[in-house]
Amino acid sequence: MECAYRFRFYPTPEQADLLNRTFGCVRVVYNRARALREAAWAERKERCGFKQTNAMLTALKKLPGFAWLNAVSSVPLQQALRHLDTAYRNFFQRHARSPQFRRKDGPQSAEFTKSAFRYRDGTLTLAKMAEPLAVVWSRALPSAPSTVTVTREADGRWYVSCRVITHAEPLTGGAEVGIDLGLKDLAVLSTGEKIANPRHLAKRRKRLIREQRRLARKQKGSKNRAKARLKVARAYAAVRHARHDFLHKLSRRLVNENQVIAVENLSVRGMLKAKRHSRSIADAGWGELIRMLTYKAAWYGRTLVKIDRFYPSTKTCGTCGTTGHTLTLADRDWTCPDCGAHHDRDHNAARNILAAGLAVAACGEGVSLGVLRHSGQSSVKQEPAP
Ligand SMILES: [Zn+2]
Repeated sequence: MECAYRFRFYPTPEQADLLNRTFGCVRVVYNRARALREAAWAERKERCGFKQTNAMLTALKKLPGFAWLNAVSSVPLQQALRHLDTAYRNFFQRHARSPQFRRKDGPQSAEFTKSAFRYRDGTLTLAKMAEPLAVVWSRALPSAPSTVTVTREADGRWYVSCRVITHAEPLTGGAEVGIDLGLKDLAVLSTGEKIANPRHLAKRRKRLIREQRRLARKQKGSKNRAKARLKVARAYAAVRHARHDFLHKLSRRLVNENQVIAVENLSVRGMLKAKRHSRSIADAGWGELIRMLTYKAAWYGRTLVKIDRFYPSTKTCGTCGTTGHTLTLADRDWTCPDCGAHHDRDHNAARNILAAGLAVAACGEGVSLGVLRHSGQSSVKQEPAP
C-alpha cells in the first residue's frame, strides 16, 4: 500500500530562499496553464491537456523575461501541470469543482519526483541544493520515498511529506461496531461507549476572534499586518492539528479493535449547506473521520460498511425492529410503543447501524433488510475496501 509520512524540517536561509522561489514559479506556471486551458475552451472549444501546457512551459522558459524559471528545479513545475491535469479530469467527471487559481498567501507546495531528490542513509537532499534538509525524522521511513512534497504552511512552518510503499499486516480477530455520529457526543458506539466531542474550534474561538480583530486593524502592506496574519494562521493551525491528532487516534483505535465497522454515509457536503450547524459539523470532523476509517480499514483488512444516510437508524427500535417512530431532536431517550423497550436515542441508532452493516457485510451488495422495508425509499450500500 502507498502512504505518506509527514515530517517537519528547518531550512537554512539559502534553502528557504530557493524553495520560496520554487513556490513562486510553481504558482506562476500553474496559473498560466490554467488560464491557457480556460481560454482554449472558452474561445475555441478546445481541450488543452498536459502536453500543450508543457509546451507552453518550454516556450515560457525561453522568453527573456522568464529566465528565472530556469533557476529552480523543473520537476515541481511539471508536477504542477500534472496536478492541474488531474484536477480538470476530476472536474469534467463531476467529482470536483473547477481548479482555482493558486494564491500567494495560502499554503505553498512543490512536489519532487525521484529524479529531483536524493535519499541516502537517512538524509534527504533536493535538486539544486548542496546540503540535505534538516528533517526531524520522528519515525523511520519503511523504504525510500517515491515522491517528496515540500510545504510551507500559512503559519510559516515547513513540512516534507514522503510517499512510500509499505506492507501492512492485516489484522485479525476483533469485535464489530456501529457508530452514530453526532454533535453533543462526536460518536456513540453500539457498545454504549460515548466519545465526547472535543470541539477544537469552539474552544479556541475566543483567541481566533481576538487575533482576527487585531489583524483587521492593521494597515495594509505593513509589517505589523504580516505579523498579525501569521498569528491568525498559527491559531488556525493549532485547531487543525488538535483535530487531526484526535481523529487519527480515534480511527486507529476503532480499526484496531474491530473486524467490522459500520457508519452512516453522511453527505457532509450537503449538511455544510445547512447553515445552522455547519460550523459545528466541520469542527467535529465527521467527513475527516470517515475518510481516515476508510483508508485505515483498507490497509488492515477490516470491513468498513457505509450505510445509506436515508436509513432511519434513529426511528427504528433496535429490539423489535419496528420503524417510523416519531422522535424530536430533544428526545434523548424514548420507549418503544410496540415492545416497551427503553432506548438511549444515540445508542439505539448505533446498534441499528451495526445491524444494518452486519447484514450488508454478510450478504454483499443489494441486500434488502427487514427493518428497511417499512421505509420504501431506503437502500443499503456497501463500499468494498479497495
Ligand atoms: Zn420495539
